[in-house]
Amino acid sequence: MAVPFIDIKRFESGFLDNWNAKVKSLSENAQFIGGSEVNDLETELSKWTEQKYTIACANGTDALQLALRAVGVGRGDKVLVPDSTFWATFESVVNVGADPYTVDTNPSDLQMDFQVFAEAIDKVKPKAAIIVHLYGWGTGQIESFRKLCKDKNVPLVEDGAQCFGVQWKGHSLYKDALIATTSFYPAKVLGAAGDGGAVFTNDEELASITRKLANHGRTSHYEHGYVGWNSRMDSLQAAFVRLSLQHLKSRIESRKKSAQFYYKELPKLNIQVIHPPEGYDENGYCNVTIVDPDRRPKIEAVLKEKGIGFGNIYPGAMSDQPGAKPHLIERFGKDQNARRIASSVLNFPLFAYMKDSELEEVLDVIRNGKV
Ligand SMILES: *Cc1c(COP(=O)(O)O)cnc(C)c1O
Repeated sequence: MAVPFIDIKRFESGFLDNWNAKVKSLSENAQFIGGSEVNDLETELSKWTEQKYTIACANGTDALQLALRAVGVGRGDKVLVPDSTFWATFESVVNVGADPYTVDTNPSDLQMDFQVFAEAIDKVKPKAAIIVHLYGWGTGQIESFRKLCKDKNVPLVEDGAQCFGVQWKGHSLYKDALIATTSFYPAKVLGAAGDGGAVFTNDEELASITRKLANHGRTSHYEHGYVGWNSRMDSLQAAFVRLSLQHLKSRIESRKKSAQFYYKELPKLNIQVIHPPEGYDENGYCNVTIVDPDRRPKIEAVLKEKGIGFGNIYPGAMSDQPGAKPHLIERFGKDQNARRIASSVLNFPLFAYMKDSELEEVLDVIRNGKV
């Protein structure tokens, strides 16, 4: 039996009927941009994130660029970013005209290393920093990151593209962020029927600037207080995300059940599974294992042969990307953990509503492959 790495077609019964009805009514009313779907989505997202203001936008990369611009990052500014993340984090810094400096990874939770980050803050004196909550959890030292940045007057942008629904000490991980972002790319835990993103903040001023930047810098219909761009979310995406929110709790529960299966079973096959640090209630975005770089291709070959999907998230550090060369000023961290992790990370299938038989099949294939 083949098992996909991810299957985003497993909708709850009735979900697509509700969606089709929405498409019909929004289309009949030519309700394509703005309107109540987007406003209602923003209100609902604010409840989930425990942040006062939500600004829906076109995608997760734009959300980062909006947040960076809102905290004042512009041409020639210096910004710290983790060396282990998705490329969009790095891109967002360059796209607003700033220079990225990468910070190495903590091998225990695979998040940005606080010690290396603290050194980089003192050395670079950046205009801002981005932290990424990767894999469906975050760093155990999130409070230290936030406090240090506050003390040093460095706005911390939190890239939460992978952490929607994650709880830290009983609250949304987004709750105490100065400004945070997410992506509604369909393969995320909360996805749209296309592209979408959002910015969250408790700060009225940051919210107001973000909203203007996402709509051509408008201060009124034909007055432009900033050079922004068009990063509006359309009404159809908002409607789809709202319908998805109604099922998010059960989707996350299902993902977490599969994650638990892997925590229990993979170590028996001598595969090291990464757990979220204490204090986190994960959203089950991703299964993450670390295997010896000599063994990894052997496991992958067996999986491939039997039609089992897998991932390497991510196969390279940001500072090693060919596209980083003209932009990267300096990489922080002597240990090169980001590089080492990239060569040993292996992700097994994990998505909402995986069947027990699929999970068992993944295990059987590894077991029988004797790898
Ligand atoms: C998906 C993702 C993004 C980008 O989101 P898009 O909506 O695809 O632009 C940014 N950062 C991280 C960590 C992501 O996983």
